[in-house]
Amino acid sequence: MTDKIKMTTPLVEMDGDEMTRILWKWIKDILITPYVELKTKYYDLGLPYRNETNDKVTFDSAEATKKYGVAVKCATITPNAARMPEYNLKEMWKSPNGTIRAILDGTVFRTPIIVKGISPYIPTWTKPITIARHAYGDVYKNSEMRVQKGSKAELVVTDKNGNETRQEIYDFTDSDGIIQGLHNKDESIAGFARACFNYGLDLKQDVWFATKDTISKKYDHRFKDIFGEIYEKEYKDRYEALGIEYFYTLIDDAVARVIRSNGGYIWACKNYDGDVMSDMVSTAYGSLAMMTSVLVSPDGIYEYEAAHGTVQRHYYNYLKGEETSTNSVATIFAWSGALRKRGELDGLDDLIDYADKLEKATINTIEDGVMTGDLYLLSSLENKKKVDSETFLKEIGTRLDAMMSK
Ligand code: NAP
Ligand code: MG
Repeated sequence: MTDKIKMTTPLVEMDGDEMTRILWKWIKDILITPYVELKTKYYDLGLPYRNETNDKVTFDSAEATKKYGVAVKCATITPNAARMPEYNLKEMWKSPNGTIRAILDGTVFRTPIIVKGISPYIPTWTKPITIARHAYGDVYKNSEMRVQKGSKAELVVTDKNGNETRQEIYDFTDSDGIIQGLHNKDESIAGFARACFNYGLDLKQDVWFATKDTISKKYDHRFKDIFGEIYEKEYKDRYEALGIEYFYTLIDDAVARVIRSNGGYIWACKNYDGDVMSDMVSTAYGSLAMMTSVLVSPDGIYEYEAAHGTVQRHYYNYLKGEETSTNSVATIFAWSGALRKRGELDGLDDLIDYADKLEKATINTIEDGVMTGDLYLLSSLENKKKVDSETFLKEIGTRLDAMMSK
C-alpha cells in the first residue's frame, strides 16, 4: 500500500442522525480513511448536539462552509412533535437544511445515480436529469385571501414617494372567490440563473429553463429575460467553447421534451415546478436512495448530501440488533462529490482520481449483483444478491482496494 492521499484545505464535515449517522462512520472507516489522510472541520449536526448548543452548531457549520468552500452533510432529523419527548428537546429546532440554504443563499441540484439492472420508468432516460429548483418566493411566500361576492380585488403598489399604482385583479360581482399575491426578486432570480449556469459548466451539460411567459407577460417573462441577459453577457462564450448550450422554452413544451429526451442535462425549474418535477423525476429513476443533492451558492460554494432522510425505520431495527440493509450509495456519492470538488479547487489530481474510483467501485458492486434490499426489489440482474448495510460497504471496499493498488 502506497502513502495515503494528502489534502491541503479541510472539508467541512456535518455529521447527522439515526441510520445515516451509522453509515457515515462506516463509510469513513471502510472506504475513506484507509486511502485519504482526511482533513475535516467536524460539526456534529446530530439532534442531541443541536439541542445542546441551541442550534448554534448548525449556524457555525454554515459559516465554516462559507470560509472553506466545500462541505459534506449527513442526513439530519427535522424535529416534529414526536421528536420533542424522544430527544427531550428544548425547542422544535428548524430544519438544518433550511438554515444552511438561507445562509449560503444557494440552489439545490438533485441528480440520480444510474446503474445497470435498475431501469428508469421512462426507458429512454439513459442519462441522468439534474433538477435545479429555485428555492425562493412565488407561491411559497404568498399572500392569499378569500373574497366575498360584491368585493373588488386590486393590486396596489406604493412606491418610496408614496405614489400608488393600482390594477384590478377581479371584480367579484357574481360570486365569492379567492385571490393570491406572489412576488420574486430580480436579485434572487439572477442568483439562481448564475448557480445553474455555473453548474452547467461544472458538469459540461446543457441547461434547460422554462416558464409560462406567453401567459404571464410580466412575472414569468422577467425570469426569462434575466436568464437570457445573464447567459448572453456572462456565459455564452464559455458555453460555446465547451459545446454546450442554454435552451429556453415554454414549460409545457419542456415537459414534453423531457419525456422524449435521453437525459444528460440540467433542468432549471421555478420554485413550484421544481417541487413537483423533482419528485416525479426522482421516482421515475427508481430509488430515492440513489439520488444525490448538492447546494451551490452563486459565488461558488458547494455542500454535498444525499437526497433522502435519516432512514428512521431502519435505525430502530438496528437499535434492536436486527439486520439492516440500508443503501449508502447517495451518502458515498456526497463524500466523493465533496472530495472531488476539494481536489479540483486545490489542484490535487490524486484526490480527484480517488473520488472517481470510489464511485466506480460503488457502481461496479451493484452491477456485479451485490446490493441492498431497496435495489434488490428493483434490479433485473439475474445473479443479484441482497446484503446487509455493512457487508455492502465491505464489498465496495474490496473493489476499491483492487483499483487503488493498481
Ligand atoms: P427517509 O429517511 O428518506 O426514509 C423514508 C423511507 O424511504 C425509508 O423508510 C425507506 O423505506 C426508504 N429509504 C430512504 N432512504 C433509504 C436508503 N438510503 N436505503 C434504503 N431505504 C431508504 O424519510 P423519512 O422516514 O420521512 O424521514 C426520516 C427523518 O429524516 C425525518 O426526521 C426527516 O426530518 C429527515 N429528513 C432529512 C433530510 C435531510 O437531512 N436532507 C431529508 C428528508 C428527511 P423502507 O422503510 O420501505 O425500507
Ligand atoms: Mg416536492
